[in-house]
Amino acid sequence: MAHGPVQDWREGARKMASRVIPVDVFDLVIFGGTGDLARRKILPGLYRRFRAGQMPRDARIIGAARSELDDAGYRALVAEAVREHLEPEKRDEESLAAFLETVHYVTVDARGDAGWKELCALIREGTVHAFYFSVAPSLFGDLAERLRAHRLADGKARIVVEKPFGHDLESARELNRTLARHFDESQIYRIDHYLGKETVQNLMAVRFSNILFEPLWNAQYVDHIQITVAETVGVAGRGEYYDKAGALRDMVQNHMMQLLCLIAMEPPYRFDPDAVRDEKLKVIRALKPLTARDIVRGQYDAGPGIPSYREDVGNPDSFTETFVAMKVEVSNWRWEGTPFYIRTGKRLKARASEIAVVFREPPHAIFGQPRDGQGNVLVIRLQPNEGINLWVRIKEPGPGGMRLVEVPLDMSFAEALGPAAAEVPEAYERLIMDVIRGNQTLFMRGDEVEAAWAWIDPLIADCESCGEPPILYEPGSWGPEESAMLMHREGRRWREIRE
Ligand code: NAP
Repeated sequence: MAHGPVQDWREGARKMASRVIPVDVFDLVIFGGTGDLARRKILPGLYRRFRAGQMPRDARIIGAARSELDDAGYRALVAEAVREHLEPEKRDEESLAAFLETVHYVTVDARGDAGWKELCALIREGTVHAFYFSVAPSLFGDLAERLRAHRLADGKARIVVEKPFGHDLESARELNRTLARHFDESQIYRIDHYLGKETVQNLMAVRFSNILFEPLWNAQYVDHIQITVAETVGVAGRGEYYDKAGALRDMVQNHMMQLLCLIAMEPPYRFDPDAVRDEKLKVIRALKPLTARDIVRGQYDAGPGIPSYREDVGNPDSFTETFVAMKVEVSNWRWEGTPFYIRTGKRLKARASEIAVVFREPPHAIFGQPRDGQGNVLVIRLQPNEGINLWVRIKEPGPGGMRLVEVPLDMSFAEALGPAAAEVPEAYERLIMDVIRGNQTLFMRGDEVEAAWAWIDPLIADCESCGEPPILYEPGSWGPEESAMLMHREGRRWREIRE
């Protein structure tokens, strides 16, 4: 069969997806190495990078927690985590055995001195030193202090800090101050795993490396933007944390805000960590303040065989929101008049995250086509099936006159890359490799996090003081009816999202 340009392109993309550039030799300490996040994401992710040839064979992974384990015991835990959380086609026993040789363990208490000497002995001169804080946020300060006290916080060391980064502006500031006492900002990697997703980076590539979109990327041509992060699960297992947080803190302040920034930001002068983060910060500072009356807050109710949120968290009086929808406005030259509608929730109809940039209708409808605002939409899908598609109107094929139909120009990574799509690193893998490379572009800077809290804090305070309970919604729905009304009032509607 002749090779057309499409096939050639696919071949090239496949080769690129499987090309890996090994990182420098590193010693990575995972504080909380026995915890849920380490087992589900960090350790399987590191194994995938090892198997792909990106993690050097003489790198060291050092699990650290209070549990009394030796290397053999921890290796057994790591092997189990890899087998449990990676599909069979993403692992093999031979490479797993080789990977386990890089794994070590020390019993360390973040709040005591036991174990630190042994930890120091495992960290080698001349390697990249990284410390992953995969523990409760209340231990971040203790860990930073002890790293300094044991002379592990040298200029080359990097720390990776998990979310949540504070629960309001004051606590985020305090945490930033504590970390700054021991580490320079260039050493601090605040994780938001949404930023590690392939499509999120592709969003920047699509915007800033093509001439096609940027001229239209403004209020003159974009009618509105929708950002949806929907989950089908409830909060079971995380109830204690979630009931104090709610969707505004847990999703909006970080993930949704980051996605909004990437859509709204000006082109940075180059793709450099501070240049990118400067532009994101300007967006956050340009957000119009909101009050409780401006947003829709919901809480999932019980359904057939499904407990209500209040039952899940064991708090019959909880006013915590598990759903929010709101119209956010960016007050700057580019976006004045183009709203960003964002919604996120638990126990919704589908597990799906997407951003839709909905363009305005052409000025004149020569075909008498419907002017329903659904003609040109750029959809960036974060999950499932990461990919981007651009909806365009074309003529419906066949006789029968000039009837128009909307079709997607599809760029699904799984389709475009074929089996190589399985090799595309997942968010955590990419972000950990970026830490080792010393690239902070996809991590949040301290001032960005504070600015996001500064915007959302008054809104949360207003919601808490207004005394209004969130609106109950049916599990498996798209949240309260008021969310649809938020759009209808302005002649718009949420796009239908399928899993
Ligand atoms: P977890 O399952 O409760 O694990 C906590 C880890 O910390 C365990 O390994 C525990 O081991 C260790 N630990 C507790 N106290 C310690 C101490 N004093 N000194 C040393 N180690 C100590 O928590 P997780 O779900 O993995 O979450 C870890 C962090 O990631 C949290 O900040 C969380 O907010 C964040 N995060 C988690 C997820 C997730 O999906 N799990 C997602 C996003 C963010 P020992 O008991 O053996 O000491």
